[in-house]
Order: sequence, then C-alpha cells, then structure tokens
Amino acid sequence: MGPDSYYDILGVSRDANDAEIKKAYRNLARKYHPDVCKEPGAEEKFKKINEAYSVLSDEQKRAQYDNMGHEAYSSASKGSYAGGGGYSGGFSADFSGFGDIFETFFGGGGGRQRAGPRPGADLLMKMRITLEEAALGTEKEVGVDHVEPCPECDGSGSETKKTTTCPTCGGSGQMRQVSQSIFGNFVRMMPCTACGGRGRVPETRCKACGGTGHRRARQTVKVRIPPGVDTGMRLRMEGYGDAGDYGAPPGDLYIEISVAPHRSFTRRGDDLETTVDVTPAQAALGSEVEVRTIDGRTVVLDIPAGVQHNTGLKIPGEGVRWQTRPGDMLVRVHIVVPDRLTEEERELYARLLEIEGHKPSAKKGKGFFQDVVDKVKESVK
Ligand SMILES: [Zn+2]
Ligand SMILES: [Zn+2]
Repeated sequence: MGPDSYYDILGVSRDANDAEIKKAYRNLARKYHPDVCKEPGAEEKFKKINEAYSVLSDEQKRAQYDNMGHEAYSSASKGSYAGGGGYSGGFSADFSGFGDIFETFFGGGGGRQRAGPRPGADLLMKMRITLEEAALGTEKEVGVDHVEPCPECDGSGSETKKTTTCPTCGGSGQMRQVSQSIFGNFVRMMPCTACGGRGRVPETRCKACGGTGHRRARQTVKVRIPPGVDTGMRLRMEGYGDAGDYGAPPGDLYIEISVAPHRSFTRRGDDLETTVDVTPAQAALGSEVEVRTIDGRTVVLDIPAGVQHNTGLKIPGEGVRWQTRPGDMLVRVHIVVPDRLTEEERELYARLLEIEGHKPSAKKGKGFFQDVVDKVKESVK
C-alpha cells in the first residue's frame, strides 16, 4: 500500500466537486489545527490536509495529480529530481509553499521565507554496468543534459553582470494578493511575478539568455563508480545538477545503478557464486581445478576427495571488493558424467562396475532417453 491519496486525506471521492472539497477541508482544518488539536501527530496531519487541499482546490494541479498518480506527483512536487533531463525547476517552484494556506488563514508563525535566489534542481539518470564493473569499481563518462549558467552573463541574467532590487516587490520577492476564501477575505502572499520571487532583477537584460541567466547544455561528467555498488544504489554527484538562480547553489546529479546479469557469476551480497564442472573421477579422488575470478585471474581450487554434487567450496577474498573486507567466491561443484568414453575409459568404468558388483546394461551404446523410448514401444505392441 502506498501513501494515502489526497482524496483519502480529505475523505472525499475522486469525483468530488469544489464545494465538497472545500467543505471537507474546512472541517478537517478546524479539527486538526495545531492550536486546537492536541492529539499526537495532529500537526503532521494538518500539514497533509493543507497539502491535499492546495492541490485538489486548484483545477490545473488537480488534473495533473489525477494524471500522474499520487506517487509520481508528490515526489515530483518535492523537486527531488527531473527524470530524463527534464527541467523540474518550474514544477517544484510551483509547490514550494504548501504552508501558505495555513499561514495566511491562521496567521501562523514560522513565516517560512521563500524569497531570494533558489537552488538548482537535482537530476537523476540511470546507468547500467557489468558485474565486473560493480565488483571492481570503474570510471565512466556520461553525457547529461542540464541547465547551466549562461556564459554571456555568468548566470546573472544581466549584460552588466549586475542585478538590482526588484522595483515591483521592493526586493521582498513577494506580492500581496487579496482574495475571497471560505474564511472571508484574506491577503495571500504570492511570489512576485516580476522577479519570480528572487527579489532581484537584471540591470540590463542579457540577450543571450533573455535574462534568465541559464541555458540548456550537455555536459560530460566523469563518474567514479566505487567497487561494491549494486542495483538500486544511487551515486550523488554534488553540484552536477541544474544551475540555481544567480548566487544560489546548483542541484546534484544522482546516478542510479543497475547491474546486468553475468554469464558465470551470480552475486549474493558481497559473495560471488559460480560453478565448476568435474568428472566422477575428480569427485571421487579429489582434484585440482582452475577457476576464473571476476577480475579475470585464474586461481587453483582444491576439490576434496568424495565431494558431492552441488557442494559449495569457498575461495576467500575473491568476491566483491567492498570497503575493507572483501566478499568470498563460492564455487558450486557440478559432477558431470561424460557422455562419450574412449575405449580405455570404457574398460576402466566396466572394471569399476564389476568391483561394485553391478550388472552392466544389456543395451550397449544407447543413451538413457533412447532406452526409455524403446521400452514404451515394446509395451505398446
Ligand atoms: Zn519582485
Ligand atoms: Zn545571459
């Protein structure tokens, strides 16, 4: 089960109309307001109610939410990452003020300051690597589309590389908007439309970037993949995400690893499992065999006399080199009966059979399956 949908939180149906949503919100907001409700977790619940209402009460957001589903919408709205090089800056900015409704309605304290330059968005990219690369570590170059500072104006958005206080909001980054609400008229603080909430505007608009201070470009990033990474792990490349507003830090680049299946090795935690084929004689008498390690070396493994099929033998330290203590290599012994014998081998096996006191098969030279098929034919007759 995922987290509750915004509809569940407000306790309304998916096709609830605006009035129903408003009514549900109003009742819940009164019930769970932290100044009123002393129930544990009330504040958390109150925040969720506000978050749900801020989306469902907005026609456009609600449509987007219905389209994307809860999981995708709520993670995108937190600005955690933009998949596939998409620019989530505008999107996340849209949701930066979930607290607003409550702060304005109830004059609540805290007064989160949202004005000022905003940091850049984080980016996520996926990378598939081989088991060798995962076990030993590697270095890779990847191309990433991101937003970077405009080189003409150094990201300031201004030809003079200077910014001035926004004349519309006086530098606060906020504008007042008087609207009507279910609680009566109220003043709502909105991000300033002239400066986008930054509080500053370019002195002379840069022609190259139109004053945004940004441009889209492909960067080549060298990624050092440490030994021991596994599917699902994310590497964080600090500062390689989208550029932020002038004076704010850039976002980070996250690289999500997936490890391709390997022909001969299976990873179990830090251990690597593989198989080795031996003959019945090797199994009975014991034998030295050569096995390949993940980094392509050959090591000698001593098969003990009397080993049984599927027995696992350990070669310490030849697993995944993870931090200080490396994993082990587990070699599973497969006893493989030869399907062709030389004359000499046949004689020796026949002698063995005799010593064991078994009768040889009457049908010489025929395999097991053929034998079974013959029997079926006989019984049909
Ligand atoms: Zn402004
Ligand atoms: Zn520029």
